[in-house]
Amino acid sequence: MPEVKQLKELEKLEVAGQATRYDFFIQWHLTERCNLRCRHCYQAVRDDAPAGPDLSLAEIGRVMTEISDALGDWARNYRMDFSPSFNLTGGEPLLRADLFDIIAEAGRRGFEVFLLTNGTIITRQRARALRDAGVRGVQVSIEGPEEVHDSIRGMGSFSQAMWGVKNLLGAGLTVTLNATLSGLNAGRMSEMVALALNMGVQRLGFSRLVPYGRGFGLIREMLSARQVKGVYDGLLSLNAEGLGGNGLEIVTGDPLASQMKLPSQMKLSHHEAGGNATGGLATGGSATGGCTAAGGCAAGISGFTILSDGTMTPCRRLPLPLGNVLADSIREVWATSTVLQALRDKGRYSGRCGACRRWADCRGCRAIAYAYSAASNGGRGDFLSEDPQCFIEPE
Ligand code: SF4
Ligand code: SF4
Repeated sequence: MPEVKQLKELEKLEVAGQATRYDFFIQWHLTERCNLRCRHCYQAVRDDAPAGPDLSLAEIGRVMTEISDALGDWARNYRMDFSPSFNLTGGEPLLRADLFDIIAEAGRRGFEVFLLTNGTIITRQRARALRDAGVRGVQVSIEGPEEVHDSIRGMGSFSQAMWGVKNLLGAGLTVTLNATLSGLNAGRMSEMVALALNMGVQRLGFSRLVPYGRGFGLIREMLSARQVKGVYDGLLSLNAEGLGGNGLEIVTGDPLASQMKLPSQMKLSHHEAGGNATGGLATGGSATGGCTAAGGCAAGISGFTILSDGTMTPCRRLPLPLGNVLADSIREVWATSTVLQALRDKGRYSGRCGACRRWADCRGCRAIAYAYSAASNGGRGDFLSEDPQCFIEPE
């Protein structure tokens, strides 16, 4: 079974001392309902074809048990230590009346829970309830200063989101502001840093625009490789002491950032963009030349996404259905999906990523590769093509 092959190879890496603890996270879109209509929303691909009903609380509980049992078996069989977590999101997850019951179900099974929200309906009472339910951190999407944010997410959404952030901080929760990088906001990053410092949030995160769903309309706003490098260089050059002294971390799950030399105040986190498989490889640029994926893009390696109707995909931004948790065994999908097998096989990759010595630790963003190739080839996307925004020099 490929699942066994992958785990055995990772076990060998662990023996070699390269990794010790494996993040495994599930991004769960609890509903597609949302109170906003953001211009870049990848979720909005189904605007004209609504999904089936949201999974019920009972169904969600059953699926959580199945995932927990599978991870428990893998941990025992391969002597691997997993750090399992759920990123609960939507649509807007707070539109689900049973959200706090869902969080409790996850906590009972030993999962850490993070919440990804647009922040606009977080009252003080809800913020306290999230804290009391044991949520480990909340990510609020912010696209830039007010006029930039409102032009992308709708008039008035910035001030509403800031109100939500204040309530979260007031309840003592850890808050990440996360921006989707594009031509609409790339020039405003210093203002984002100032905003984060001013609000007193603990983390500021970035992910790259995926031209998919409603975001396809923004394809002209995709940054070039050079522009992405410019933004990341700018973030890296921030005064480490200045940020650290204010308690702000800059975080990203972008595998490309993991190939840069990161200063201590910029960290990789799979909770921002779906990112890296092992925290142990988050110091950048190991360039091992290996063929066992051990870090970088999480798709097919260290987690998957469940959509509101139970459809599984490799990543929240890579719309390739793998099966449905209501009908299929999750272990079987993880082990036998041809899409997941391809994602784990360097020989199937093309272009620069297929030839790259950093493949095991990077693989670029598969969602961007897929969306970009689809946009350039009349809708025929290739999720194994090269990441078009890669700025790393070949070695
Ligand atoms: S070519 Fe692909 S795998 Fe290599 S550094 Fe660039 S994005 Fe990463
Ligand atoms: S495809 Fe990979 S790098 Fe891109 S968002 Fe998904 S997990 Fe992250």
